[in-house]
Amino acid sequence: MSLPKIILKQGKAKPFYRRHPWVFAGAISKTENSPTDGAEVEVFSSEGNFIARGLYNSQSKIQVRLYTWNLDQPLDKDFFKSKFQNAIKLRNDLGLNNNEVGCRLVFSEADGLSGLCVDKYGKWLVMQFTSLAMANRREMFADILQELINPEGIYLRTEKGIGKLEGISLQDEICRGTPPEGTIPIQEHGLQFMVNLTEGQKTGYYLDQRDNRLEAAKLAKGRKVLDVFCYGGGFSLHALKHGAIETVGIDQSASALHLAADNAKRNNLGPSRWILGSAFETLAELVKTGEKFGVVVLDPPKFARSRSAIDEAIKGYRRLNTLGLKLLEPGGFLISCCCSGLITMDMMEQILALVGADEKRDIQVLQRRGPSPDHPVAATCLESHYLKCIITRVM
Ligand code: SAH
Repeated sequence: MSLPKIILKQGKAKPFYRRHPWVFAGAISKTENSPTDGAEVEVFSSEGNFIARGLYNSQSKIQVRLYTWNLDQPLDKDFFKSKFQNAIKLRNDLGLNNNEVGCRLVFSEADGLSGLCVDKYGKWLVMQFTSLAMANRREMFADILQELINPEGIYLRTEKGIGKLEGISLQDEICRGTPPEGTIPIQEHGLQFMVNLTEGQKTGYYLDQRDNRLEAAKLAKGRKVLDVFCYGGGFSLHALKHGAIETVGIDQSASALHLAADNAKRNNLGPSRWILGSAFETLAELVKTGEKFGVVVLDPPKFARSRSAIDEAIKGYRRLNTLGLKLLEPGGFLISCCCSGLITMDMMEQILALVGADEKRDIQVLQRRGPSPDHPVAATCLESHYLKCIITRVM
């Protein structure tokens, strides 16, 4: 039986020949054979030429996610298994697939598996879906992971808000094996961090900043470090290990700060102050006290969740970086991060230029960094380059 077809509008095919994996509703002229949500479909140009195979969801802005450009390749278990094998091979080559360090085993578009992330902590895996069609295939993916990794357990977590965007209704629950008892220790560049994969933020930890935390720490010796949006204290602890004289972490989540204080204790590191509060208000109060820092790290949550939110997000980043600059001593280092895929590196640099001019401070960009390499960027889908980390010196 032939697959349902998606016919694109005239002039809309080019990005998909170039292997961008997201087909938005605006590119689609019509559907044939009534695809159901989650179904495998074939995508054709308006001239009737085959372009790719994908998975359909009428409820999402991304109506088709594309997985193969090969006409004869069904999107079956063997196909997906080979994608998982490629993804795992990369983490093996990076030396990250073991039971000590945490790592992202599968990163959505960047591993050709749009809509699925898999993180590994010790002997446990966490699967997270951002696509209905992929979520519908979760038992198949769990089988594949069981065959390739044989974990103690696979836990399912769904990001808040994604249900609405995709029409997914999933419970956070164990879907294979047994859940871990309590928290799992992971190693990161010589430090131990505790991960609660059932209750912690994201899948329990922010693996993407692993190498940026180390790079920032190398600048911290003999300096006081302000770690804004600190979560489990990652930037602070690495800074202390590299000789920071004191760290101050700010987060609005009390459980994050408990985790941070506990992580500091486990690693015998200090002195640290942990301040519970909204970042913008707390920074403004610190500015009033006149306290200054030698390193300021800004690692906010995503400000731009949709194109319509970009202007507001830019204002937010501008305000945040202004406050950061005001707290930075001359010759100090500002580490400015942004995890909004819709805000590019260029845009962040423009924001820094504006902020520097406003505050009459010269900013030198030392490093333009992305996420750790277990979060690769798909060259055909630059939206997967969501995390930017700009390391600067400010006179
Ligand atoms: N820097 C961390 C990751 C930060 S994730 C690391 O290296 O692991 C973003 C953090 O910002 C989360 O811990 C969240 O609780 C916190 N957060 C979100 N909005 C906030 C706000 N308005 N003020 C303070 N903290 C906030």
